[in-house]
Amino acid sequence: MKFVALIKYRIMSRLLTLLFVTLIGLTNLFGQSDSSQVTKKYQAKPKSVYPFGKEAFLKDEKTTIRWLGNAGFLINSRGTRVMIDPMLKEFDMPVLFDAPVATSDIPELDAVLITHSDNDHYSIPTCKDLSKVTKAFHSTIYVDSLMQNEGWNSFGHAISDEFIVGNINIKITPADHQWQNAYPGFAKRFFKKEDCAGFFMTTVDGTIWATGDSKLMPEHLNLPDPDVILFDISDSEWHFTIKGALQLAERYPDALLICSHWGTVDAPDFTPFNGDPEIIKAQIKNPERLIVLLPGEPFILNQSKK
Ligand SMILES: [Zn+2]
Repeated sequence: MKFVALIKYRIMSRLLTLLFVTLIGLTNLFGQSDSSQVTKKYQAKPKSVYPFGKEAFLKDEKTTIRWLGNAGFLINSRGTRVMIDPMLKEFDMPVLFDAPVATSDIPELDAVLITHSDNDHYSIPTCKDLSKVTKAFHSTIYVDSLMQNEGWNSFGHAISDEFIVGNINIKITPADHQWQNAYPGFAKRFFKKEDCAGFFMTTVDGTIWATGDSKLMPEHLNLPDPDVILFDISDSEWHFTIKGALQLAERYPDALLICSHWGTVDAPDFTPFNGDPEIIKAQIKNPERLIVLLPGEPFILNQSKK
């Protein structure tokens, strides 16, 4: 989310808060409410960080998933190492924890996959460092054009395209996240639906779907059943919302849901960043499949152990 849009959100949020406080004040004035009901702003965040280093990039006989914070993930599938939307440094808003791995400790990557151009996904400072160690970048055609300008080895893909990285087959899934068009004058260009995407990854040990930021689309409910969804829990109109996240979870009842896009950016009043796994957990069917990883904590994908 770019800063100008954020300011707009914040102004709206403050106005609504002011209105709410005024209403509470008026209610109290007329003796119909209890002044002890003032709520403190709360933002869910991970309890700690699980730092890792070069060992996470070694080849072994399994597929390991690590959450990197926000929507970032590292997948090491039997030696094929892919990062999705890594935001490991220099974000333009305060963050709640240090990244579990420094870019200088990343020895080599087979690919960096970027879902869209928002800077909490396409982190230029992070990608600049990773351009020295990754074999390639993959994204949408628009984001590829930005990367080409940086001089990186990048590839742009249309929705439904498929490509292979090492032993992982990757299919591009659609997304609907053109929030820029709702703020006339904000962007110099009109954003197209296909500027944003998700990645459906098939590994030897199971399938993993990185949804990208998106409103819930009918297409999202017609995919092959994923073993794992990197599960966006933001209650924002430009994301799934809680209702949509629950709908998605219900559609894929056997999928493990690894929480994403929460607890990273310090923004308790900004819905794209202030998601709370507990809210989802309280409403979901078979909540034991909702997985709340610490940043950096390894999760081993094993289809037979679901
Ligand atoms: Zn985002």
